[in-house]
Amino acid sequence: MNVLKFGGTSVGTVESLKNVRSIVEALPSDTVVVVSALGGLTDRLIATARLAAEGGDWRTEADAIAERHYIIIEELVRPDRKQSTLTVVGSLLDELRRTYEGVSLIGDLPAKTLDVIVSLGERMSAPIVAGIIKNGHLHNSLDFIKTEKWFDKNIADASLTRDLIIKEFVDIEKGPHVTGGFISQDRDTGEITNLGRGGSDYTAALIAAALDADMLDIWTDVDGFMTADPRIIKDAIVLPAMSFIESMELCTFGAKVIYPPTIYPVFHKNIPIRILNTFNPTAPGTLISDASCAKEYPVKGVTAIRNTCLVRLSGNLTENVAGINTRAYNALARNGVSVFLLAQPGENHEFSFAIASADRQVATRALNEEFAPELIDGALDSISFEDGLSTIAVVGEGIRHLKGVNGRILNTLMRFGIKPLACSEGNSDTTFSFVVEEKDTVGAIKAIHGLFF
Ligand code: ASP
Ligand code: MG
Repeated sequence: MNVLKFGGTSVGTVESLKNVRSIVEALPSDTVVVVSALGGLTDRLIATARLAAEGGDWRTEADAIAERHYIIIEELVRPDRKQSTLTVVGSLLDELRRTYEGVSLIGDLPAKTLDVIVSLGERMSAPIVAGIIKNGHLHNSLDFIKTEKWFDKNIADASLTRDLIIKEFVDIEKGPHVTGGFISQDRDTGEITNLGRGGSDYTAALIAAALDADMLDIWTDVDGFMTADPRIIKDAIVLPAMSFIESMELCTFGAKVIYPPTIYPVFHKNIPIRILNTFNPTAPGTLISDASCAKEYPVKGVTAIRNTCLVRLSGNLTENVAGINTRAYNALARNGVSVFLLAQPGENHEFSFAIASADRQVATRALNEEFAPELIDGALDSISFEDGLSTIAVVGEGIRHLKGVNGRILNTLMRFGIKPLACSEGNSDTTFSFVVEEKDTVGAIKAIHGLFF
């Protein structure tokens, strides 16, 4: 059986939903379909919530949101399901209005309230899609996607979620099954949570892994994984295939194709992922599996993470390199901060690594605590932070077999007048990454893409 996930643009309009319908209705009944909110709706729900908190006119926005859903129900939901779908969506729209009203009255938008508001996107799209597809059987993801608190984030409780999914879909033949992505419920408090922006992919992966699916199909609005962001590189190409590791690295380093946590659960079960285009359903797409096709494409892509912050530890540290890096890395991990590049140590015992600028405050506290002894006894002069940077990654399993590849990358940058501020240690077999000033992001991507493609 296959799990299919349709993103926001795929379920955003009457026209695109017709494609979704014909894709799903051509498949066997044991299919599970995971849907996002209507395209752009999550952003709009958030913007309207902020508007309400500021005392703005949220009603006009809420009316437009309602109208968009009603048009789709009117045009596409099957006649025998129309009334029940209208009732369900109508009461969710009432809940949305009441919540905005409350936000507007108190003039404040607590995080938990925002979580309820954004959940309504998928809570409305799922019954609509279930009503459009022949024999569509609706499931409520809040019943089986459970999260736990981890610092200030909600993360999936993987084993509880797996058990609940298996129970929920025992009658797998009686589908196709439809459920909302992204939304979840706190296993302890019962509050509505979510898996993070873009999290519908992850919901689909959790379901695919729990049900031992044959394939996870991510239906989107592009023909597949490309060698670079096509808005930057006009002649970026669609890759026919890549490995799980390569897709993981590309997504961690900024490719917006799949929400990064998605890959692990299916990788673990060796369930291939296909990236397919709802608007061009016969295109072959990209197959992500344990095979890399490294011969044809040693390098798979060039990506960027903007809003990078470079952290530097400088002084006369005597501890070995691995020791310092491990301490810094662990101190940050304990505080929920991930490090996406560990740089080669500089000449004068300088250690640097890249984090997201948004994590700077937490990182400052964590590192000052961890290295307090060295800061006091003078072994460490300072811990400094530099914002306004980008991390660029060159990803591909064939990279390790290319002679002098790091040198070629650095020379190319130099020819284009771009100076990397830090380079990865090169200990990852699939990725070479470096940090540049944010203004050089596009230039660096163009230079490196040109070198390999
Ligand atoms: N609707 C959510 C978002 O826009 C989740 C998703 O589409 O994957 O982030
Ligand atoms: Mg997405």
